[in-house]
Amino acid sequence: MSEKLTFQAETQQLLDILIHSLYTEKEIFLRELVSNASDALNRLQFESLTNAGLLDADAELAIRISLDEDARTLTISDTGIGMDRAEIIAGLGTIAKSGAKAFIETMREQPESASDIIGQFGVGFYSAFMVARQVDVVSRSYRPDDEAVMWSASGGTDYSLAPADKTTRGTDVIIHLQDDAVEFAREFRVKDIIRRHSDYVAFPIYVGDDEAATNKQQAIWRRSSSELADEDYDSFYKMLTMDFGGAAHHLHIRADVPMQFYALLYIPASNQPNVFSPRKDPGLKLYARKVLIEEYNRELLPEYLSFVQGVVDSEDLPLSVTRESIQATRVMASLQKTLKRRILSELKRMAKNNRDKYLPIFQEFGAWLKQGLVVESDDRDDLEPLLFFQTTHDEDPSQYHSLEDYIGRMAENQSHIFYIIADDYSSGARSPHLDAFRQRGIEVLYFTHPVDAMLPMGLPDYKERKLVSVDSADLDLGAIGELAEADATPRESLADDAFADLQSYVERTLGERISAVRASSALVDNPARLVSDDEASSRHMHRINRLLDKEYELPVKTLELNARHPLMHNLSGLLASGGDDALVEAVIEQVFETALLQDGIHPDPSSMAQRLTLLMQAATGSASGELGFADLRTAITEPEADASAVDS
Ligand code: ADP
Repeated sequence: MSEKLTFQAETQQLLDILIHSLYTEKEIFLRELVSNASDALNRLQFESLTNAGLLDADAELAIRISLDEDARTLTISDTGIGMDRAEIIAGLGTIAKSGAKAFIETMREQPESASDIIGQFGVGFYSAFMVARQVDVVSRSYRPDDEAVMWSASGGTDYSLAPADKTTRGTDVIIHLQDDAVEFAREFRVKDIIRRHSDYVAFPIYVGDDEAATNKQQAIWRRSSSELADEDYDSFYKMLTMDFGGAAHHLHIRADVPMQFYALLYIPASNQPNVFSPRKDPGLKLYARKVLIEEYNRELLPEYLSFVQGVVDSEDLPLSVTRESIQATRVMASLQKTLKRRILSELKRMAKNNRDKYLPIFQEFGAWLKQGLVVESDDRDDLEPLLFFQTTHDEDPSQYHSLEDYIGRMAENQSHIFYIIADDYSSGARSPHLDAFRQRGIEVLYFTHPVDAMLPMGLPDYKERKLVSVDSADLDLGAIGELAEADATPRESLADDAFADLQSYVERTLGERISAVRASSALVDNPARLVSDDEASSRHMHRINRLLDKEYELPVKTLELNARHPLMHNLSGLLASGGDDALVEAVIEQVFETALLQDGIHPDPSSMAQRLTLLMQAATGSASGELGFADLRTAITEPEADASAVDS
């Protein structure tokens, strides 16, 4: 007796899109169905490791495709795990995959790009509806007591379910082809598709009455790299990930001692995975002697290398273990070590000999590697040569330099490696902290990625040279490098007593927002900067807290003033002549807030707008001999008075 059930709304939409699609490469439906059959066989194989009571325990694990050109049908049969009634409803009546939902969303937003999207997307079972007017699925699960069931749909909103009399284990998918899809009932056409899309499937695929399998079945990772062309690696990567951006690099490993295993690993070209990728989670596919043990194994690689995709196939992993206990085996520990070492040495080799190829990879995944440095201090030696930075060396944001480059260029008497933490390259480049470094020809690394703020925790030094932040309070650059010629005769400094007056005025004005005011020996072109008295490590924690929480209050810093700067001369002069207090105070406030801004830690930059307007009016007013600052301030708080004041 047959019953009628209704598809989930999303499934209906998906079917509708696929049935009406004009996509020309409809042949991919076969790849999808073969892949489902292969998954079902994999799962059966895995089940058989621990379960002795399987239905048809001796049946060959294989896929058979039968064709009937007259009846216009194509049937894909597997001896895999099969489905019972509930499983068939869950598997074929609903869309569980988030990817399928993303697919529908995208189609809704840009229906005109349907054909691009279908090709890039593993639409799975439903892709059959690109060529089918009706699909019947007859399945019997591996559990001997389960009953066989038949599912049938013709692309409407409903599907039917009925008991079936299939006696053998597995699933038959019977496709009743649309009139214009009869080609898929022809043997040569089907064989050609199998060879192109499913050659690597690990189980034999028999077409028609053939006794020989159409596919080579040899997993690409078990083949010798000398037989494989770049296209082979490329197409396997795309099949595995559906990442049509391709991979930046692949690493094919075949090891015999101390363990025998094969691995084919890929570094994607982009860290933005395709939204349609069926591989949503990180992890490598783990096989033990060709049996798929785990679809996403996250233990094989350290977290910081989790961007690496691929397959590992071990000859030594015991087969009769559960997924949980496999992690504890000695073989796993040894695999982990070997894989990590191989990937890191490959990256190191590239970073050293082929920077052009390495740098794009670093741009995408450098943040992961830096995290690794912070989290896995044991890997420091391997990770250090993988780091690259923009630096003040060439003042060119497109150039990246290694720590080794930096060390090779250190100035005379320089024993530290200096870095500046900034939100981005251009704000870093304008920072007042760099004045003294530029003046003395000392190179500074730009730390502009959010992860960089944590970097000094994992990398306190490199080759015994301490990493030191340019805003450390106790820096003395006096003995390092050489002053540039023009700077050898600096502008005149404020007299000591004049500076002392200014200093106490600034302290009074800024109060508890700063811990102290003092004269700077480091500033050249900038009037002021903020320096930290804290230990470097606690400073980084503050920054990280600030990154996580905008409201986080940073500890107060010391304000350094440049006693040679014309602005300080002007302020001092105004104070001495008993000039406009309001103006002096506004300037001091602005000097302080500019320093916050330059360090990327101003809590609310737009709040400065009003003061800046006042200052500009004061500057233009005094230049034209018109108005003092105090007049203007009143003018602004009382707009009507303002209008008359300006008019008169
Ligand atoms: P996906 O395979 O990506 O999960 P599909 O739409 O292709 O998505 O399949 C949905 C589900 O139906 C599968 O996850 C699986 O549980 C079940 N299924 C499909 N084909 C088969 C098959 N040949 N044998 C057993 N189960 C299958």
